[in-house]
Amino acid sequence: MNTPRSCHLGRAGSHRAGGVTALAGLTAATLLLGACGSGTGGTSEGGKPTVVTSTDMWAGVAKAVAGDEAEVEAIIDSDETDPHSYESTPRDAVRIDRADLVVYNGGGYDAFVSQLLSDGDGTTNGVEAVSVAESGEHSESGQHSENESSSPTTGSTHQHAESEQGHEHGHGHAESEHQHTESEQGHGHAESGHGHQHSGNEHVWYDPGTARLVAERIAARLGELRPDRAERFERNATEFGDRLDEIERNITELRNEHHDTDVMTTAPVADHLLENAGLTDITPDSFVRTVEAGNDPAAATVAEMQELVGSGRPAALIHNPQTASPLTERITERARNNDIPVVAMPETLPDDRTYSEWLSGRVTALDTALDDNTAGTGGQ
Ligand SMILES: [Zn+2]
Repeated sequence: MNTPRSCHLGRAGSHRAGGVTALAGLTAATLLLGACGSGTGGTSEGGKPTVVTSTDMWAGVAKAVAGDEAEVEAIIDSDETDPHSYESTPRDAVRIDRADLVVYNGGGYDAFVSQLLSDGDGTTNGVEAVSVAESGEHSESGQHSENESSSPTTGSTHQHAESEQGHEHGHGHAESEHQHTESEQGHGHAESGHGHQHSGNEHVWYDPGTARLVAERIAARLGELRPDRAERFERNATEFGDRLDEIERNITELRNEHHDTDVMTTAPVADHLLENAGLTDITPDSFVRTVEAGNDPAAATVAEMQELVGSGRPAALIHNPQTASPLTERITERARNNDIPVVAMPETLPDDRTYSEWLSGRVTALDTALDDNTAGTGGQ
């Protein structure tokens, strides 16, 4: 991956300063630079950059930008795997080290990636979604302005939730980057202790605004690797952004119709979507905290949970199939018995879907569940 650098550094150093020679040298260097840049520069065999992502959610976003012009592969692409507890293999280390670009979630979610990146030789580029989301909030209409024009209406609907996230989450995230062992804690709502709207929730791919920013960042990085394809990547990112705009409009419609409706969750996976949709998560904090920490909730907490579900108060139960346990199975069963729709919100992408198809499908599923349910009208 060091081809371009050694290519022109080596030559440029040998030129002597002075008059015509320097000018000629400059021209030669420029030509060489051009040749290096568009030739073998910065890519693996076949000339396509290789993008490795932690999960197939981020591979879905990367593919939308890359099209056929890059090889995109995910380390975790099975719905049998819970990314939170994934243990990386030596093969993963090799893949990350060889990648031209690594796209990962951050926020303690896929801590193995930042660990492998820092263990590596330092030449691999990384795009970390949680950081991108945070910097996007702080530099509002700043450096993202090139193709950010796509979201003037929808952006404002969830600004509030996003900025809360930025403040809450800032330092937990920084810790998790440097201290691998603290990942579970960085992951946490345990620290947030401020209601269960989980402003710092790390499942940021449930927010179309974040996916848009990550796509723009990927486009910029791929464009650096393949300047001759930069425009294509930008165009792909813009088209992807248009699809996300549409999803955001659907979320706004859902919000207009169902805001303040009570819902419950077996795991805090889709919180960004619930927040954007203005729904009220009435899941007991004690349940969320223990489940997130990978512990078994106390009997009293389980009883509270079952009672709430039994009361018919939530209009829908959000279920994360990937972190299912006998306990969450009992809860979803009770919900079904009480005619509360159960909506699956996973950690990884189903095989036959693109990212935007999948997210759009989840918004529709949530909307359908809320439309169908007449029991849970709490807060209206
Ligand atoms: Zn999760």
